[in-house]
Amino acid sequence: MNDNFSLSGMSSPVEIVDQVIAQAVKISASDILFEPQDKQVDVRLRVDGVLQPFGMMPQGAYDQVLSRIKVLGNMDVTENRKPQESKIRFEVEGHPYVLRAAIVSTNFGQMVALRVLDAPRFTDFTDLGMLSELADKIKKNISGRYGLFLVCGPTGSGKTTTVHSCLKHLNSGEVNIMTLEDPVEYIMAGINQIQVGEDIGLDFVSGLKMILRLNPDIVFVGEIRDAQTAEIAIQASLTGHLVISTVHARNCVGALYRLLDLGVDKFMINYALRAILSQRLLRRVCTHCAEEYHPDQLELLMYVRETGNPPGRLVHAKGCELCRQTGYNGRAGIYELMEMNDGIRKLVTDGDSEVKLREELAKDGFKPMTTEGIRLVDEGVTSLKEFIRTIYDAK
Ligand SMILES: [Zn+2]
Repeated sequence: MNDNFSLSGMSSPVEIVDQVIAQAVKISASDILFEPQDKQVDVRLRVDGVLQPFGMMPQGAYDQVLSRIKVLGNMDVTENRKPQESKIRFEVEGHPYVLRAAIVSTNFGQMVALRVLDAPRFTDFTDLGMLSELADKIKKNISGRYGLFLVCGPTGSGKTTTVHSCLKHLNSGEVNIMTLEDPVEYIMAGINQIQVGEDIGLDFVSGLKMILRLNPDIVFVGEIRDAQTAEIAIQASLTGHLVISTVHARNCVGALYRLLDLGVDKFMINYALRAILSQRLLRRVCTHCAEEYHPDQLELLMYVRETGNPPGRLVHAKGCELCRQTGYNGRAGIYELMEMNDGIRKLVTDGDSEVKLREELAKDGFKPMTTEGIRLVDEGVTSLKEFIRTIYDAK
């Protein structure tokens, strides 16, 4: 349990909730869980993608904490059986945060899960370690007056940072930039941001139709989740709008096939799509407690599978005070960029397999993000365990 933070030492439920959220965002936690147990309620935080204990409080004190959270999220305070979902806007040291709140009944009471939407601190491509050469390629791909640029990766892969960097780069004051977001996470000056969501009664499809009538130059659509959104987004990108969006896919090839699977016309994809960026965030090994180690059989196997060679010197970290015993401190992004070219377009037209596309990309000098990940492992920036967790466990 976390020694430097005592929940029982606080008097009011308001203070407990405020302090937990404030502490969580300060250490860049992505999730806050209040988990009722038999006698107490555990509080855990997800930091750099992994849960860690934060504190606990007696069951007796929890009722009021729960009420406070429901009030913050405009939820029904008297409802204690049905699941509830909401958004909470919260300010920490003058900085606005949006939390997605979900409450659900478990064995011992109502569990609360708060998700801190991607931190707003980064708005430059290179903030998460992207090489400037790659940042330049992205800028080139979003420089046209029309076309589609996609960013993909699982939740927590830094997509928001990349998209905000793109919008900031494009926000010259001479263009009309409109966004559809679920929810609007961070207010950006000079950009017309529109919130979509079930609670508002506006979805991506109707939102897109609406903003296209306002003739924007650049459109950001939060996510392409279905065929209809994909179709309108692509149509828009072919009629004088630059469209940026995200797709839930494991990698660039997966994202391209996801569009095809949604039934989007191949020729329209070929005309519209400029490039797909795929990314992950790997936790950096804490430099304070890092040490050399020998990987186990499975890790060894994975390394050889990726590189064809046995590894050299590998590091991991055992945990110290500086890294809150996690062995990690901060994160580094790894990326792959697939730019459309005639070879890829022909494979799309012919309906070729993913395997063929990978072969074509390899010929073209495409560097998969796993290559960059292995480089970080070799350089001791991250651990082999972390590489495997991030690349293979991602949903
Ligand atoms: Zn450490």
